Amino acid sequence: MLNESQLAVLKNAKLGALNIHLERLETLARFDSAGELSDEELLAFLKICNTLYRSGEPLITDKVYDSVFLAELEKRHPGHPYLHSVEPEKAFTGKTVVLPQRMLSTEKAYTEESIEKWLVNIEKAAVELGIDPDSLIFRATPKLDGFAAYDDGKILYTRGDGRKGTDITRVFERGMIVGGSGKRGLGAGEIVVNQSYFNRHLADTFENARNFQASVIKEKELEPHALEAIKNKAAVFFPFSELPDWQGSAAEIRATFENIVATIYSLIDYDADGVIFEVTDERVKQHMGATRHHHRWQIAYKSNAETAHVKVMRVIPQTSRSGRVNPVAELEPTRLSGAMIARATAHHYGMVKEQGIGEGTLIELTRSGMVIPKIERVIEPKQPQIPGQCPSCGSELIWDSDYLYCLNSAHCPAQIENSIEHFFRTLANNDGFGAKTIEKLHTSGVNSVYAIYQLTLEQLVEMGFRSQDGKNQIAKNLLDQLKRSRTEAIEDWRFLGAFGIWRMGLGNCERLLQHHRLLDIFNLSVDNIVLIEGFAEKTASAVVESLAMLKDEFMKLYGLGFNLLQTALITGQLQKTSPITGLTIVFTGTMVHGKREDMIKEAKRLGAKIANSVTGKTDYLVTGTDAGATKINAAQQKGIKVIGEQEYLGVIRQ
Ligand SMILES: [Zn+2]
Repeated sequence: MLNESQLAVLKNAKLGALNIHLERLETLARFDSAGELSDEELLAFLKICNTLYRSGEPLITDKVYDSVFLAELEKRHPGHPYLHSVEPEKAFTGKTVVLPQRMLSTEKAYTEESIEKWLVNIEKAAVELGIDPDSLIFRATPKLDGFAAYDDGKILYTRGDGRKGTDITRVFERGMIVGGSGKRGLGAGEIVVNQSYFNRHLADTFENARNFQASVIKEKELEPHALEAIKNKAAVFFPFSELPDWQGSAAEIRATFENIVATIYSLIDYDADGVIFEVTDERVKQHMGATRHHHRWQIAYKSNAETAHVKVMRVIPQTSRSGRVNPVAELEPTRLSGAMIARATAHHYGMVKEQGIGEGTLIELTRSGMVIPKIERVIEPKQPQIPGQCPSCGSELIWDSDYLYCLNSAHCPAQIENSIEHFFRTLANNDGFGAKTIEKLHTSGVNSVYAIYQLTLEQLVEMGFRSQDGKNQIAKNLLDQLKRSRTEAIEDWRFLGAFGIWRMGLGNCERLLQHHRLLDIFNLSVDNIVLIEGFAEKTASAVVESLAMLKDEFMKLYGLGFNLLQTALITGQLQKTSPITGLTIVFTGTMVHGKREDMIKEAKRLGAKIANSVTGKTDYLVTGTDAGATKINAAQQKGIKVIGEQEYLGVIRQ
């Protein structure tokens, strides 16, 4: 059975799209062989297990994950991208070692009542030991939201599954210091990055501190800014025992709970996602012991989404790859639920205009998760800040309902650079083509993905991709990565998604390719596409239009030879699910069941072709009330089945 936290993780991660029923998930968790799973199910199950593992709520053991499910994928598809995908806590292949001491997770509490229950249990234990509960000292420390590790003085281990971790001593060899006293060998702690430093130097490159922390541990060579952060002592390993703390009695916790929590968050300049309370008396600790998962003498209090009133300094426009200009509000830096928040996004410029978001606007901010928060409520409006021109190319911006657009798609640097970045990021089988590199390439006159693939070593060096001593390793690396992006296997739907077609997110790309081969999609009509679940008429026509515009660029890139894994077609499905798939149907007269257009749409969705007049190819003539005699006669002469509306409904519901 999945526990509540696991269910919450799955819900937050929106893994519903992976299509595994909860019951099935629980069944799979008990499997010790993966042979009977389909490819899709196997991959979906791996993703779910990985998400749960990363959030500290593993569904299966590490060993089963690796040796049963991951091994099965490797056996079936040795080059599968999932095997190499970057996952914060499993990204390195270093040797697995047994931890000197088990690292348990911390039990979580979300209300003061749960903390009260925990205090009562501790006091009971003290009484059992003959200790005066009023004499107990409690310690409260920030619950660091970093990358858990264990330092035994020689080796630094990842937390792994709590029993076995991976040797990542290399982070010390790279110059990382130990926070607090700086001593090695102090046991469990977290690799964290200074919040102010992150906001100043890293926020443009990494979506959140967690992504950055994962990158610091990576096995391969570090990016310059990661090394820089280590050198500047902004990224450190912080042992728990060295954390600044609050100490006091149970009575004080009860009386000033909120104050203690607020104080703890203000003690550090690292992301924290809760406050850990523990009793310090070793005898009580011993007596209470641990469950399989957590120590009973310790508890983490996680406050629910905290809100704050924050002042906007200014609203800056950012042009996305589609030309839509998005408003980002720069805020007076505010600490919220343990994180320093300096930016928030408004939904669109329509909101900025209507609600008056500009310099000095007071907003209510709620932190939900780690991403940049959204502005949900304006407390005190001011003059809205709305740009007239594109911040990137200077073109006049155009309103389309609530959104502002830059229409200069052919020459707008932001649109070109963001599209190129989207391409490489979506392929996800290469490194090195981040915003800075692409900006440099574009400034040097390279303005398409295809053009990047045409670059030579000399050209790259000429553009400045070389180190100060003139060595051309940087340029070489870029060429290697381009080669890697073509040779390392990727799913064909991912390749299609990389082009950033409007309304074609990865999910839709995969659905489309489950019904049509990659190169066939350029010949599809709107009618073909609406048959696929999830594609409404409007989306389908937008897709057809965009594909037509994209075709030349697509074929040029496709011609470079990428290592594409073909999506399995679900051919049988349409035929199996509908008795009218492939049949030609003519409707005549007024229908009672619903509007005729709706019935036609439904028939199309079920795979039928719809015609206006009866010919030799017609399979059914469906007649409503006051049906035209001409059509009925024609059908009877040609020996075509004429059925009433009720009978038709009976046929499609077989
Ligand atoms: Zn522009």
